[in-house]
Amino acid sequence: MVTLATVSASGRDWRSIGREFEAIVGKTNVVQRREELLVYECDGLTSYRQRPAVVVLPRTTEQVAAIVKVCDRHDVPFVARGAGTGLSGGALPVEDCVLIVTALMKQILEIDFENQRVVVQPGVINNWVTQAVSGAGFYYAPDPSSQIICSIGGNVAENSGGVHCLKYGVTTNHVLGLKLVMPDGAIVEVGCRIPETPGYDLTGLFVGSEGTLGIATEITLRILKAPEAIHVLLADFTSVEAAGQAVSDIISAGIIPGGMEMMDNFSINAVEDVVGTNCYPRDADAILLIELDGLEVEVATNSQRVEAICQQNGARSIRTATDPQERLMLWKGRKAAFAAMGRISPDYYVQDGVIPRTKLQYVLREIEALSEKHGYRVANVFHAGDGNLHPLILYNNAIPGQLEAVEALGGDILKLCVEVGGSISGEHGIGADKRCYMPEMFSETDLETMQWVRQVFNPKGLANPGKIFPTPRTCGEAARANGQEQFSGVDRF
Ligand SMILES: Cc1cc2nc3c(=O)[nH]c(=O)nc-3n(C[C@H](O)[C@H](O)[C@H](O)COP(=O)(O)OP(=O)(O)OC[C@H]3O[C@@H](n4cnc5c(N)ncnc54)[C@H](O)[C@@H]3O)c2cc1C
Repeated sequence: MVTLATVSASGRDWRSIGREFEAIVGKTNVVQRREELLVYECDGLTSYRQRPAVVVLPRTTEQVAAIVKVCDRHDVPFVARGAGTGLSGGALPVEDCVLIVTALMKQILEIDFENQRVVVQPGVINNWVTQAVSGAGFYYAPDPSSQIICSIGGNVAENSGGVHCLKYGVTTNHVLGLKLVMPDGAIVEVGCRIPETPGYDLTGLFVGSEGTLGIATEITLRILKAPEAIHVLLADFTSVEAAGQAVSDIISAGIIPGGMEMMDNFSINAVEDVVGTNCYPRDADAILLIELDGLEVEVATNSQRVEAICQQNGARSIRTATDPQERLMLWKGRKAAFAAMGRISPDYYVQDGVIPRTKLQYVLREIEALSEKHGYRVANVFHAGDGNLHPLILYNNAIPGQLEAVEALGGDILKLCVEVGGSISGEHGIGADKRCYMPEMFSETDLETMQWVRQVFNPKGLANPGKIFPTPRTCGEAARANGQEQFSGVDRF
């Protein structure tokens, strides 16, 4: 038997609001049955769940605008959702909200090779962009490890990064313009199809705003010419310190690799157990994957220089892949690292701090000490070139208290990142998960200034409320001290 949410505790008549949505997108694209809503109650941060009141799946900008206008008229909060792979709870519904899912907005609207740009709907999957243009020798640079499943709309909202962002920059460096539906339903275009526009940089402001300023419905992306040559080097080290020093030395030598990733011994073994690449030496304390791209002659020269730097830092072996199949094999393990954790531990909690590269060795040692202190294993997989750490904390959610304990460990890691001059997020966003740590990085005035900006675009606070910014009722320590619930309206699992 199925049940239909009707009048909610807040007194909203969802049956009637649902009918308004059906008139916009058709009956099949409105989900209101409680059982079907289950799918949408969390994103990649599965420890927090909240069932939305209604899910609506539009296909066009005009439909999104009409849906948002209904929300505005009824004062109903709405949350945008792309593929739901976010790791900070950005697409986590709030109580009694409408979830606007872009999964049907998956058209590539225009490809313009001459001007190196494509226009896509937000539900287009990251990888599809490169697939659509690679035949003509182009590609889309930002490549989150989730690129085969995450949407461009989600990438824009999170300002996502990836392996190639060391050299080419994160999403914001590749978005030329946006068509937006504002929180009152108005359709606005920001940026344009050429790199520079006069006036305020509203495209830059929107990228990374995590769905709190409106919904992107058309995105103009820059595409790049594929490099003439690519080499991937796999160097293995007997200490994390040595690998970290090699990273610093490579950058100091003026070489900017396309990507430079590090995995520690624990991650290497997890990946080899699960993916079985047979490429990563199981006894290495750390491996570096270094991708060099550019002109053939430049790549060949830099390959030799990088090899020499790794050897000077005590690399035991260096393997170089030049053909696409072998390169893919070397990357395969790294790309599957998060998934591999799922095979060796019932749950994992991933952090996303950034540190200055020069503090790498110190911070990794401190993380190890924190891991011992809290009693949870931490695997380290990260974008070493830009100091973006991804400590994966392994735990079992079925055991009461473990989630809280790993969150405390994650919090200590973030505080450590800030202490050494880094940041609490490199690419996964703040969402619901890390808003409590915003005051670690920003003063009250800084936060207030950001909230003024949100207020201008989102004066009623209907677009993705409760995300990014701490509020007394949602922040652990303050809330606990006051004897309040930590997360209002959100079930913890
Ligand atoms: C295995 C794994 C590996 C990952 N690796 C990386 C990585 O290497 N780099 C990285 O940066 N991230 C990574 N992520 C995190 C995640 O994939 C990215 O944050 C991604 O950009 C989220 O896209 P999504 O479509 O799933 O967005 P969702 O999770 O659906 O939403 C994310 C945020 O975007 C907002 N949003 C979605 N669509 C729109 C829109 N059209 N307009 C306005 N706001 C919108 C939502 O409200 C939410 O705040 C990884 C995740 C997983 C599970």
